[in-house]
Amino acid sequence: MDIECICGFGCMEESLATLKNIEHIFSPCNECIDPKLKKFKSLNDQIDLEKLDANYGRCNCRKRHLDLVIAHALKIMIEEGIRNKKTTLRKTCTPLITPAHPTKSVPFLPERSMVLLAEGITKKCAERILNEIPEIKGVLEGNIRQTVGMKDSDTSPHVYKLLAGCDMRCDIVPTFSGALCIYRNQAEIHVEFSKPISPKVEALKTIIEKYKNPTVLDCTCGPGTLGITSLKAGAKRVVFNDIWYPAARMTSFNLEINGFRTDFFDVKKGLIGYGKNFEVYCEDIMDLKDILNEKFDICIIDTFPGVDTSKFVDSVRDLCREIVVI
Ligand SMILES: [Zn+2]
Ligand SMILES: [Zn+2]
Repeated sequence: MDIECICGFGCMEESLATLKNIEHIFSPCNECIDPKLKKFKSLNDQIDLEKLDANYGRCNCRKRHLDLVIAHALKIMIEEGIRNKKTTLRKTCTPLITPAHPTKSVPFLPERSMVLLAEGITKKCAERILNEIPEIKGVLEGNIRQTVGMKDSDTSPHVYKLLAGCDMRCDIVPTFSGALCIYRNQAEIHVEFSKPISPKVEALKTIIEKYKNPTVLDCTCGPGTLGITSLKAGAKRVVFNDIWYPAARMTSFNLEINGFRTDFFDVKKGLIGYGKNFEVYCEDIMDLKDILNEKFDICIIDTFPGVDTSKFVDSVRDLCREIVVI
């Protein structure tokens, strides 16, 4: 399948091509400036916000320290009446870097490498931020503490609002079978901050290693991380499923991007993608027992925090030998 970001800026190819030198993308050159701003102190007391524009603190290498990009956004948000002069770096917004990878050092951002998430932001403010700050590729309205997506069939989905630009991001996820490049439309799929070792991936490793080329049912696949890791680790067959169409669709894209040739149907329900040894469904997990006529070695259930998984576990009990709630 051909993959292209709907924004037309080639977001999805860009990150794939740069995956190999990810450390280099965000590291400073010798001339780059660290403004040494404190996170919990009003930004206005530390820096003359009036002076901030697209060139302020931006190095000849065309990168700028993350905190200066946020300070620049704060300047615009104050002008638009959304934040005030007491606002700290922490309270300005949530920066979502792309491509993101686990690192302890603060990134120096090149152009179009951050999606900005802020509560209470207006469309006018979002458009100004996108037009005036070269490092920002998209602006979302929403609260980082509210998980995006769909919990189950009884709950209506929660999404962030894309107010300007493009929200396609890539996370580089280290796994025991190699790094994955997991894309997501951030307005529609939950935020996951990359960790050097993901507890979910580690839990999967323990189970996969018990079998030789297992068959896996990834019941709640999200953008596909655990199922794709299973395939890369040698799973004989993987069936992906998510009730939330944007997640199931993104799983199909991520399969192709990570080297698994995928055919994709643009339908909102049922089988939406398949390849040599995998299928992608968009179904309620409770219905899988009626749709899939096979038995899997491992069944993975990975839900939103706080969701009671007992009814999910019961519904897939007859489909597999071992159920793992991750
Ligand atoms: Zn895009
Ligand atoms: Zn530089």
